[in-house]
Amino acid sequence: MRSIVEGMNEPLLICCDMDRTLLPNGEQPESPLARPLFARMAARPGVQLGYVTGRHLALALDAIRRYRVPLPDYLVCDVGTSIYSLQGEQWQLWEEWSEHLAEDWRGSEQADLAELFADLRELTLQEPVCQARFKLSYYAAAEVEPQTLLRRMRERLTEHAIRAELIWSVDETTGTGLLDLIPLGGSKRHAVEYLMVYSGAGYERTLFAGDSGNDLPVLISPIQSVLVANATETVRSEALRRAAEAGNLEALYTARGGYLGMNGNYSAGILEGASRRYPELRSWLEATEEGRCDR
Ligand SMILES: [Mg+2]
Repeated sequence: MRSIVEGMNEPLLICCDMDRTLLPNGEQPESPLARPLFARMAARPGVQLGYVTGRHLALALDAIRRYRVPLPDYLVCDVGTSIYSLQGEQWQLWEEWSEHLAEDWRGSEQADLAELFADLRELTLQEPVCQARFKLSYYAAAEVEPQTLLRRMRERLTEHAIRAELIWSVDETTGTGLLDLIPLGGSKRHAVEYLMVYSGAGYERTLFAGDSGNDLPVLISPIQSVLVANATETVRSEALRRAAEAGNLEALYTARGGYLGMNGNYSAGILEGASRRYPELRSWLEATEEGRCDR
């Protein structure tokens, strides 16, 4: 018991992607125990919670209500390009983060960069609700060869001295390509690193969980991460390959299920990863599950 209390004196930052990581909105089943147990873990003393999502603020808040997941301490929206925290009852945008990103795009914003690529017929702008000041998002047809397209786009960005990251992923359900263009220093990885410094958690006490393409910058980084079991085999093999190439394989855990009788999908995967990384959480989770530590 002593180790549980001692471990919890240090801040612990748990950052997770929302769709199909924390939220069970994929095709695979969710273990019924998982979300309530996640909420209780998030309420533990010392645990700080960050959601890191491609959604904009209103859609993220909508999902928090709809899926009854806990309110986070930090809400990172628009694929890492905006950070909010709760001030009283209002979610406040962190202006300092936005100013930092503005430097990468040299004063340009979403609409300016959209003009730069207006002639690329392979690309269709996503709906206005998916765009943000520092996030330009496209759909691409399933047959588009991403390497060639991304190379052409990078050449144009270089000509204009714009530092941007291009994040390619595929919608599992439709096969459609999804492309997000964001400032180079504004990915989910950079946002999580910013929070880990802000919260005082550091690399040792920060855990990220994700499932898909726009989580890869974090999953292959030195940040301790867990890939939930419902991720596709394509994402799993790419994450493992790229983490190994980057020398960060030890920081990546791939949930497989079986922990506390859960299947490793969605929040069960986050709990499985948290139990592997933090002994004090493992002790608490297992005591809670056996009904011996019901608080
Ligand atoms: Mg996701």
